Amino acid sequence: MAVQRILVVGAGFAGAVHARVLAEAGWAVDVVDQRPHIAGNCFDHVDGNGMRVHAYGPHLFHTNNARVVDWVSRFGAWVPYEHRVKALVPDGRELPLPVNRDTLAALFGVSLPDEAAMRGFLATQALPCAAPGNAAEHLNSVVGPTITDLFFRPYTRKMWALELEEMHASVVQRLPIRFDTEDRYFPDDRYQLLPRDGYAAIFAAMLDHPGITVSLSTPFRHGMERSYAQVFNSMAIDEFHGCDLGELPYRSIRFHHRASAEWRQGDSPVLNRTDDSPITRETSWHLLPHHLVARGTHCTITAEEPCDWRANNHERYYPVKTADGRHEALYERYRARAERNPRMHFIGRCGTYRYLDMHQVINQSLISAEKWAQAYPRSPVIAVAAE
Ligand SMILES: Cc1cc2nc3c(=O)[nH]c(=O)nc-3n(C[C@H](O)[C@H](O)[C@H](O)COP(=O)(O)OP(=O)(O)OC[C@H]3O[C@@H](n4cnc5c(N)ncnc54)[C@H](O)[C@@H]3O)c2cc1C
Repeated sequence: MAVQRILVVGAGFAGAVHARVLAEAGWAVDVVDQRPHIAGNCFDHVDGNGMRVHAYGPHLFHTNNARVVDWVSRFGAWVPYEHRVKALVPDGRELPLPVNRDTLAALFGVSLPDEAAMRGFLATQALPCAAPGNAAEHLNSVVGPTITDLFFRPYTRKMWALELEEMHASVVQRLPIRFDTEDRYFPDDRYQLLPRDGYAAIFAAMLDHPGITVSLSTPFRHGMERSYAQVFNSMAIDEFHGCDLGELPYRSIRFHHRASAEWRQGDSPVLNRTDDSPITRETSWHLLPHHLVARGTHCTITAEEPCDWRANNHERYYPVKTADGRHEALYERYRARAERNPRMHFIGRCGTYRYLDMHQVINQSLISAEKWAQAYPRSPVIAVAAE
């Protein structure tokens, strides 16, 4: 019997985009996910307080990629939303994050009227380093130890359980320092959006196609692939191989949701804690547009407590990058092995062991699925179903 169906493991963006593109190309696609819901880490729902809550932390969609926006807009309405974050500093004040002129002026009680003044001020703080070998050296060379130790050291320690000296400089190089008073978190992105009716509704529409069958609470099991022409797999690549070369580590997060009678006000739904408490940030959902679905007496606040993935039911969130690149090297060994199986493609965040934003996963998945569908064209799905 000819093997004609395609298996997609994971109903997050990587899996759902592959499924939709392949189904529209005429393939019959079976999607399995071990969780009881679709949407992967983007899953959201309306809780008992009437708040739309993102189960795996706040997901802000931002990109310059018009094609990605056009494509996801096929599956539901999106509303503009410009994200702002505040840092809670030791004296209890909430200051703009990323660090900008206003942050430093307020913190140090100095006047920083323009970029030149801020550069001049930072020059008095910084410890120059021509070739930073780790995150600490990079930050100290840009903002100096005082700012590093306030905004970055405790946060990094609780987020990654690593000292800045142990981390690759690239992890912090992407954290912006602003020389103006810009307080938007993603000012360079043309599209900053949230799905009006939530991410789960977008995924439901994306997976609603006669060529797609979704099975939830269904983990991938070895042998499943034998019934399929091709597998697009967003599970962790080391887990697929039984971790026989060693485990690829991740940081995870425990999410603590609580009802609160105190309704935080302002334009910053997310508060970052710079202190030594185990919590990195707190999200007040009612401050995100279309997230206060039905107002009651209490709002919902979600606190994030980073931890090792093994301490959180193997929930893999952030690949760990160390200064010596040892985990990437291990990933490369798994990738090389996986490439020997032409019917199995590892996709998405855990399949490729890389932190990827939503728009990057969508873009990569569109390219990957379209390329494959062009190489292997199918007759319409109705014909497949009849086989
Ligand atoms: C805390 C947090 C906050 C984030 N915030 C943002 C943000 O603000 N903006 C942004 O653009 N991106 C954000 N991201 C990134 C975003 O979550 C990812 O880009 C996106 O989820 C990647 O999609 P994916 O399909 O690769 O992975 P996932 O969404 O994780 O989906 C993978 C799916 O595969 C399933 N699966 C895994 N193993 C198996 C198995 N063995 N069998 C069956 N199913 C399996 C999982 O259950 C999961 O549903 C955030 C990520 C995290 C962790």
